[in-house]
This record gives sequence, structure tokens and C-alpha cells, in this order.
Amino acid sequence: MALEAGAAIPLSIDLTSVDDGVLVSLDTAVDLVGECVRCLDLVRAHREVHTTDVFVEPSSPLARGPEDEDSDALDGLRIIGLHDTVDVEPVLRDAIIPLVDDRPLCRPTCAGLCAVCGEKLDDLPPDHHHDVIDPRLAGLAALLESDDVEEDLSNDDAQEAEHQ
Ligand SMILES: [Zn+2]
Ligand SMILES: [Zn+2]
Repeated sequence: MALEAGAAIPLSIDLTSVDDGVLVSLDTAVDLVGECVRCLDLVRAHREVHTTDVFVEPSSPLARGPEDEDSDALDGLRIIGLHDTVDVEPVLRDAIIPLVDDRPLCRPTCAGLCAVCGEKLDDLPPDHHHDVIDPRLAGLAALLESDDVEEDLSNDDAQEAEHQ
């Protein structure tokens, strides 16, 4: 699922001054769209988004990170940008990604599509089926057919023999 391209996202943002930075609280709601993994119907999901993140001053010891360069303590740390700006786009993206269902269903009981005709099983009668020859037996069926042909030929031969 994904956000519809070009969809407007109205944001409500609170900024609170804290030690070494600013606390950014962000509220919004998004409409995610995708395809049912079973029947490919459009699936639409409305999701509320609430996040709170601290953006630290670039001069803060936090922003400089620990001495140990292997540490991942800086991962996810948000830093106030040039001219005291905060970039909420990564905040919003990080908040939406966990809300995305990677196996969306149009409804929990969706039966999916008929493997033969591709129609939605939910729209078809319960006894819907196709007479299909198992591919492993298709060769056998072909043999049976050719046997019939040979039989017909031998019958013809026999008849011809009678005529002679
Ligand atoms: Zn479905
Ligand atoms: Zn079918």
C-alpha cells in the first residue's frame, strides 16, 4: 500500500521548547491505497498519524554524537536545520511506514480469484468449477484419443478386408 501520489496531507504541528532543542508533535491522517493480495481489488485504509520527536540544536553535545564511531546512537537523531528549521518530511515518512500493510485484504474472508478463469470467487456461485484435466494426466488423455483413432483405422481396415 502507498499514499496516493499528489495527495495533500494536512498537518497539525506543535513545537515545544526543550533542553537542547525543540519537541515536535505532529498529527495528521492519511489515506493509504493498495490492491487486495488475493483478488486485486482496490483497498483503501484511513490511518491516523501521531508522532513526537525531539530535534536537537546542532551545537548540543547530543548532535555531536559519542566518541565511539561504531556506535549507532546518532541513528534516528533529528537535528535542527539551517535558520532554525525542522524537516518534518522524514518524521512523517517514518511514522507512516509502520502503518503500511504489505499484505492488504479487501476483507478478511476474501476468497481470491478462480485459478482457471480469474473471476472473483466471492462473486461466483459456491459450486463454481471447471472440468480440467490434471496436467500430469494430459499425456494419458492424448494417448487414449490416439488409441481411439487407431481403433477406427483398424475397423476401417477390417471393413475393407470384408469388402475384398
Ligand atoms: Zn480481495
Ligand atoms: Zn473459474
